[in-house]
Amino acid sequence: MRTSAERSFVRRARQALADSTLRAAVRKAQERFRSGKRNAEAELGHWEAWRRLGEAIRRHTIENLDYYLEQLADNVEKNGGTVVFCATEREAVEYIVQVAREKGARRVVKSKSMVSEELHLNRALEALGVEVVESDLGEYIIQLAGEPPSHIIAPSIHKNRRQIAELFSRVAGEPVPDDTPSLTRFARRQLRRAFLEADIGITGCNFAVAETGTVVLVSNEGNARLTTTLPRVHIAIMGAERLVPTWDDLDVMLHLLPRAATGQKITSYVTAVSGPRRPGDADGPEEFHLVIVDNGRLDILGTAYQDVLHCIRCGACLNVCPVYRHIGGHAYGSVYCGPIGKVLTPLLGGMEEWQELPHASSLCAACSEACPVRIPLHELLIEHRTEQASRGMRPWAERWAFRLYRWAATHPAFYRRAVRWARRVLAPLADREGKVRLAVGPLKGWTAVRDLPLPARQSFLDWWETEGRREAQGSNGRTKGEERDGERSA
Ligand code: SF4
Repeated sequence: MRTSAERSFVRRARQALADSTLRAAVRKAQERFRSGKRNAEAELGHWEAWRRLGEAIRRHTIENLDYYLEQLADNVEKNGGTVVFCATEREAVEYIVQVAREKGARRVVKSKSMVSEELHLNRALEALGVEVVESDLGEYIIQLAGEPPSHIIAPSIHKNRRQIAELFSRVAGEPVPDDTPSLTRFARRQLRRAFLEADIGITGCNFAVAETGTVVLVSNEGNARLTTTLPRVHIAIMGAERLVPTWDDLDVMLHLLPRAATGQKITSYVTAVSGPRRPGDADGPEEFHLVIVDNGRLDILGTAYQDVLHCIRCGACLNVCPVYRHIGGHAYGSVYCGPIGKVLTPLLGGMEEWQELPHASSLCAACSEACPVRIPLHELLIEHRTEQASRGMRPWAERWAFRLYRWAATHPAFYRRAVRWARRVLAPLADREGKVRLAVGPLKGWTAVRDLPLPARQSFLDWWETEGRREAQGSNGRTKGEERDGERSA
């Protein structure tokens, strides 16, 4: 039986495939990011060495996560901040809602945070009567559209300028031209008001530096800096794995992240927050809260999937993925999409509910090659599939097909006869070019988009028995391999 999540994955993928605007927008953005990354790697030089260094830092951090989390928490508290560990989505949301209630907050301004999407935080705050404004331009656009992000770093990647102008015009109550300067001018005017009026600023956390208790944010729009300095309260939300031990380690990560994400040497802004405003500081919040979210991450430690915790959310794997290229981010149905989403979502959300995602891949391994911290994403996808097969989670037709194949492949006489018969059975279904077009059954999906050629008139084994062996034998009746062996022993 298919779960409803699976059914809707197939439906959403079909819808995305039929949406030519979405596909054109995703393709254009993917190409821009990819060529930017290639140039940035070449310009930096020794990219593979940087990747290995990044991988080593992430591996060391995750292998010693408990130690560094404690160090981080101690240092944030020494700096005057409050730290809270939340085991579940619910605990994290309840804590943040409680802070908003205590402060009597009416307005919250947010900078981009994938963990807050994971927590469905906006919904909880709005239920409390709090107005939430996303201040990252891409997030602002999809907030107006009422949609989730469709890319880790470019949430509105699927929208073109005309669609964005329509959304802005709705808010403005008058037409907003669809040229880039007009669109950004409109967004800037709206967002400035949100920064000035907000009671609480909520951010994510690109990296937390354990040795000083510092939350580091990278952005290109300056919105993270305004979110962390103007409101009276700053709440930073981080996934429990998003830390580095030292500033030297951060230096390596800041070489990798922007280059892999957008092809930039460095983002326009790198903001470092070490607690609330101190006496004599010109600005900054009166209160700083660091919400560290587990939500299933710590259960991944010590499993075959541990490497997925090395992810620095750069989005590079999405930018090379042929599946993402065709269906965009929403078809995945999860907060994290693309290759990283296919590995991570079943781990955080449950294999039963998300069992189709690891199969939405050609296993071409382009994602693993693109990953700046060398996560073997395609191997982790195979691990998911292996686990599903060993837990009997695959559809009965697939299970029986493989059982049948195993039996046939281990019974050579039957196998040869079956291969001979396959041509005769399939020949009436083939077109003039010898390509089989099956319109029914489980192979229908395969032949709709791929060639299934008729089996050859003569199988390799038959050819070998009749002609191949003779051709391979020399005049002395020995095969070339046997001749070589003879020469060696002589
Ligand atoms: S898996 Fe690698 S490439 Fe993909 S988002 Fe994470 S760090 Fe980037």
